[in-house]
Amino acid sequence: MSRYADIALPVNLEREFTYIVPPELESSALVGVRAVVPFGRKYATGLIVGRPESTTITGLKPIRDIIDPAPMMSDELLRLCRWIAGYYFSPLGEVLKAAMPQGFSASSKRLLRIRGDVPESALDAAAAGSPGRASIIGLLRSGGEKFAAEIERRTGVKNVNGVLNDLVRAGVIESEEILPHPSVRPKTAEIVVVDDTTRESIRMTLASLPPRKKKARQLLESLLTMHGSPTGEIGVRDLLASSGASTAVLRELIAAGAFTTISHEVSRQQEFGTEQQTLDIILNKDQQKALTSIAASVSAGGGGKFLLHGVTGSGKTQVYIEAIRRCLAMGKTAIVLVPEIALTPQMVRRFKSHFGDAVVVIHSRMSAGERHDAWRMAHSGRCRIVIGPRSAIFAPLNGLGLIVVDEEHEASYKQFDSSPRYHARDVAVVRGGNAGAVVVLGSATPSAESYHNAATGKYTLIGMPDRIDNVPMPVITIVDMTLERKRAYAALRESLPEASRGKLKDFAASSVSALLHRKIEDRLARREGIILLQNRRGFAPFVECAECGYVEMCDNCNVTLTYHLAKKHLRCHYCGLTRRPHILCPTCGGTDIALRGIGTQKVEKELAELFPEAKVLRMDLDTTSRKGSHDKILRKFGEGGADILLGTQMVAKGLDFARVTLVGVISADTQMLLPDFRASERTFQLLTQVAGRAGRSTLEGEVVIQTHQAAHYTLVHVIDHDFRAFYDEELQSR
Ligand code: ADP
Ligand code: ZN
Repeated sequence: MSRYADIALPVNLEREFTYIVPPELESSALVGVRAVVPFGRKYATGLIVGRPESTTITGLKPIRDIIDPAPMMSDELLRLCRWIAGYYFSPLGEVLKAAMPQGFSASSKRLLRIRGDVPESALDAAAAGSPGRASIIGLLRSGGEKFAAEIERRTGVKNVNGVLNDLVRAGVIESEEILPHPSVRPKTAEIVVVDDTTRESIRMTLASLPPRKKKARQLLESLLTMHGSPTGEIGVRDLLASSGASTAVLRELIAAGAFTTISHEVSRQQEFGTEQQTLDIILNKDQQKALTSIAASVSAGGGGKFLLHGVTGSGKTQVYIEAIRRCLAMGKTAIVLVPEIALTPQMVRRFKSHFGDAVVVIHSRMSAGERHDAWRMAHSGRCRIVIGPRSAIFAPLNGLGLIVVDEEHEASYKQFDSSPRYHARDVAVVRGGNAGAVVVLGSATPSAESYHNAATGKYTLIGMPDRIDNVPMPVITIVDMTLERKRAYAALRESLPEASRGKLKDFAASSVSALLHRKIEDRLARREGIILLQNRRGFAPFVECAECGYVEMCDNCNVTLTYHLAKKHLRCHYCGLTRRPHILCPTCGGTDIALRGIGTQKVEKELAELFPEAKVLRMDLDTTSRKGSHDKILRKFGEGGADILLGTQMVAKGLDFARVTLVGVISADTQMLLPDFRASERTFQLLTQVAGRAGRSTLEGEVVIQTHQAAHYTLVHVIDHDFRAFYDEELQSR
């Protein structure tokens, strides 16, 4: 082994630091373990990322201590982090920090004790020849369990963790990780494993027990009669409850050798529940074909990159599930990336029902303890499937066979608010390549980038053009809100006496067209579900003519101009052009040209007036800020507890409700006209996704899209469900 170690420290510097490895830490200073090193005038904790043979740097300092007995990071993950650091120009230390939920610092304390089953002679042997080892063993022998810090203080051994690691590896002491916050302690349960030998020993103890020991008798009898897990595990808590015996009685019996208990780590995972209906699905022909190519690549040792382009409801999720089943059968593991767990509770439930405890879910609202658990479950190999948002791409799984990126076009895969600024889809492709895993990017509306990669042969394209059971794609109708408004305006004028017709200035058209109104009434009467989308996000007000729907656009860039309140002018966020808004509408001469933008709340109010008997659930950032609130709203709607689900783009994602037969888009313009060159692509994706929520069962679905831009090419392709044509046109216009 070399005498040096390169260490990445959590500092904002794009370099690593070299240290000397002292002889006594030689065997513990593995690549991937955390080390304590002198840094400036203090000590810092970093990760060993290399063991160079030689160095030209002089005046190096030695590592003080090694924290982990085994690597936190595999070579494969380390290589991935190095790639991210290089590709996205981030310091390696910061990338590693993002990849390890517990970060660098030794936030946990180690509690150490001599193992119960170690003979005295082995302890003497381990202590021999090293004063450090001898004093540590001496201390633990006399004083029971101790924290590492106390051992260091009492024995004066400097690199105490390094020596302790040696002793752990030698099998004479054991260490337990105690995290500072109580909720962060690994959750354990004490259990008895009742196998044949234990059963025999329980019977023997029972036979020799004096009759007055009633409670002990009851406890032993309970052990023989209780129904444990399939592997014979009985929880101690259940045992005490059902026998009525005290802990003292239990300890006494254990001391007498009747049986033993073990402590079993249990996960603190939030319950997602399961659902039965997809358990015995048999794949259709298209799904089978997709599965065959993916599985072939998995068993060939990976390298395959697939773009699974399947329309909404074509059964992509079921393909992921079966592909993962193949992975597990080959002893491999899998990662499933989803845009946001809170938005996809149905998806998680499906995976849980198929794979049970093999699945660990990571999500953004987890506590530090839950996050830590999830990480350990994956690291130890106890869980072999990790589902989560973008950071789950760093899951510490070994033997990775498959990475699925569901809804790969989603913008949330990109981290842009803190360093490292990576794109999880791209990282997935690189990790798959490094790890010999297959990568499957799935979407009904692939990103232009991925579609391009498929077109040029970088990815293998798998198409699933039909919905399950050939449920037809929903019929989409576009309502021109400009005409709608004119008609409503004229009708209102007609209905008024001649004299008061001039007073129509503050005429406000309804945000629900006559057609959508009729269809909502119809669904309400038939008790079928309705989803309404009003994607008003952020505050990017634009200026619109109330009479004809004309919107102020940039002549150079063909995007909407944004109104800036402070300067009272319109600005193009693209080329920077600024100008004053018109006073009269340039197309119709109307005078009511003003700031527009209706939010979900406004629509909710209108719905209450238009359909007083309908139950409406609103889902947007305001109604979903609390943990679990998404799931609550969705469940309620799914169970028929409301007629209309109204919301922002949250309602467009991954929902599968058989009872929804009508989807209405209040205004397609809110997204289409955003000042962003991806606006059309995003609109196409959003509208296609939300339209996909309609008619996912035998009930036929229908979609009504309201817009002031009825002739926009994006809408034309949405109606035809024609991704290909949209993509071609979009790439040309860029
Ligand atoms: P996607 O992920 O493409 O939107 P899903 O996998 O969610 O599609 O499938 C849509 C619906 O069809 C789900 O309710 C699912 O249970 C069901 N489904 C999927 N595959 C089959 C199949 N082969 N046979 C019957 N039903 C299926
Ligand atoms: Zn006008």
